[in-house]
Amino acid sequence: MATKINFYERYATEHMTIDMDEHGLYCEVCSETHESVNYTVRVDESGVVPVATSCNCASHKPCKHMRIVNIYYAKIYKSNIEKAEAKQEQEQEAAKAIQEAENIVKLSSVEKSANERMMSASLNGNQGFSILRR
Ligand SMILES: [Zn+2]
Repeated sequence: MATKINFYERYATEHMTIDMDEHGLYCEVCSETHESVNYTVRVDESGVVPVATSCNCASHKPCKHMRIVNIYYAKIYKSNIEKAEAKQEQEQEAAKAIQEAENIVKLSSVEKSANERMMSASLNGNQGFSILRR
């Protein structure tokens, strides 16, 4: 995709803030005309490449803010898609390892309570024995 971006778009991309809230991922993109104004571009990241779904500016949609976000993600994911996949695999591996660790902890706590039962049983047995000897 040979997408030429202008000075404002370059500036806005460099100064874009990416964050998450209860609605998911969003980008704060600065206005071209008002330096202190930021627009919130909502991003749908359920697909392979995140896409801008809405912007709270007054312009006709899709607006330049959404375009900036889309170009930004298209660029990132083009070069990083393999890294992202590798990372996802790593995360899956990590999740699997955590799951296994949790299973081991569960198992050992079951063993522990069994051991405790055995210990208290033998303790009672010793007690009985000492009573017999007295
Ligand atoms: Zn906008």
